[in-house]
Amino acid sequence: MNISNSLKLFEETQAVIPGGVNSPVRACKSVGCTPLFIERAQGSRIYDMDGNEFIDYVGSWGPMILGHRHPEVIKLVEFVLSQGTSYGAPTVLELRLAELIVEAVPSVEMVRMVNSGTEATMSAIRLARGYTGRDAIVKFDGCYHGHADTLLVEAGSGVATLGIPGSPGVPNAFVEKTISLPYNDIGAVKAFMDRQGDEIACIIVEPVAGNMGCVPPEPGFLETLREETEKHGTVLIFDEVMTGFRVAHGGAQALYGITPDLTCLAKIIGGGLPVGAYGGRRDIMEKVAPQGPVYQAGTLSGNPLAMAAGVATLKQLKEPGFYEKLAEKAKRLAVGLQGAAVVNGVSATFTQVGSMMGMFFTDRPVRNFEDAKTADLTLFSNYYRAMLERGFYLAPSQFESLFVSAAHTEEDIDETVRAAAVVFEMLTKE
Ligand code: PMP
Repeated sequence: MNISNSLKLFEETQAVIPGGVNSPVRACKSVGCTPLFIERAQGSRIYDMDGNEFIDYVGSWGPMILGHRHPEVIKLVEFVLSQGTSYGAPTVLELRLAELIVEAVPSVEMVRMVNSGTEATMSAIRLARGYTGRDAIVKFDGCYHGHADTLLVEAGSGVATLGIPGSPGVPNAFVEKTISLPYNDIGAVKAFMDRQGDEIACIIVEPVAGNMGCVPPEPGFLETLREETEKHGTVLIFDEVMTGFRVAHGGAQALYGITPDLTCLAKIIGGGLPVGAYGGRRDIMEKVAPQGPVYQAGTLSGNPLAMAAGVATLKQLKEPGFYEKLAEKAKRLAVGLQGAAVVNGVSATFTQVGSMMGMFFTDRPVRNFEDAKTADLTLFSNYYRAMLERGFYLAPSQFESLFVSAAHTEEDIDETVRAAAVVFEMLTKE
C-alpha cells in the first residue's frame, strides 16, 4: 500500500503539533503504524490522501452511526451554514436537539449542551458534587470519561493504550477524591459503599464499557449501582458518550432498564460535529447556572452547525427497526469473525452489544480491565496492520471498540470476515 503522502504530511505535522496528532491514539504508535491522513469519506468508506480506500469501522470513534455524509445530515448542515455559523445566543435548533434527547433517553428531563464528552462528564461531576455537597467520586478501572483531571485515574482508551497510570500535570490533591473500583465487581461496590457511601458524591460508569475494548455489564452490576447509590444519597451518572443512541435508541439505560440520575452524551448526538451534553433529573439539573448555583458555560455551546448535524442524525434513528437492523449486521460480523478465529485456531474472545463490538486476543472471558489486559497486544498489532493493508480501517488499539454503521452493507461485512479469515490463518503460521 502506498502511503507516501501520509508519511510526508505526518513528518511535517510533527513539527507543529505534538506527536503529529490532535488526540493520542490517532498516532497509531502501539500498533507500529503511522497515521493515515484522510481526504474524505462516503457511506461505509474512508479515503486517505494517497487514494487508498478502506471500509471504516472507526466511524470517527463512534459518532458516524449513519455512515459518512448521510444526505439528510448534509442537507440540514448546508442549510444552516447558509444562515450563519455562530451567534452565542439561543436558536431553535438547540431546542429541537434537546427535545429529541429528552424524548429518547429515559433519565433525561432537562439537558445542557456542551462541546465534547470530556466537558459533559466534567460538568456532570461538578453538578453531582454541588448537588450533594460531597467531594469524593467513584469510577471503574478501564472506563474512560474524557481527560479531565479527576477522571484519568486507572483510565481506559488512550491512557490504557499508552500503558500509563494517569498523567503528569494532575495534582495529587485533585485525584485524592477519586476512587477506582474493578468493573463488574458487585462485591467490591457493596463493600466500598457500606464503608464510605455517605461520603460519595457520585458513581460514574460506562454502562457498557467501550474504552477497554467492549465489555458488557454482567447481570446485576448496574442494578447494584442503582441500589447502592439510592441507599446512600449518591448521584448515579451513566457516561453514555459512546453508548448513547448507539446500543439502543434510549442508550444502555433503556436496554438494561436501569435509570441513572444523570447521563452524559456526545458523539452520535453531534452527528460528526463537536457536541456533548449532560442531562438528567429535573431537580438536579435545576442546580445548573443560571437557574441554580453550579457554574458551567461555553462560547460555542449549542453551535448551530453542530445542533443541525445532531438533529438530522437523531431524526433518522427514530425509523422503526433501525436498531434491530443494525444489531443484526453487527451480529453477522461478530459471528463471522468468531467462526474465522475458531477455524484457524486463534484464541479470541468476542463481545457485542448492538452495533458496538470488541475482539480480544485472549482465551479467557473479558469482564473487566484485568481480563482485557491479558490480550496478546503483539497479535493485535499484526492483525491490525494486515487488515489495514487489505482495506479495513479499525481502531488502532486493543482497548477500543469497533462500530458498525447503517451504511455498512452485508457485502461489506462478508468481505471483512473473508479478509479476517485469511489474516487469522496467516497469523497462526507466523
Ligand atoms: N466518555 C466516554 C465513554 C468516551 O468514550 C469518551 C471518548 N471516547 C469520552 C467520555 C470523552 O469524549 P471526548 O473525546 O468527546 O472528550
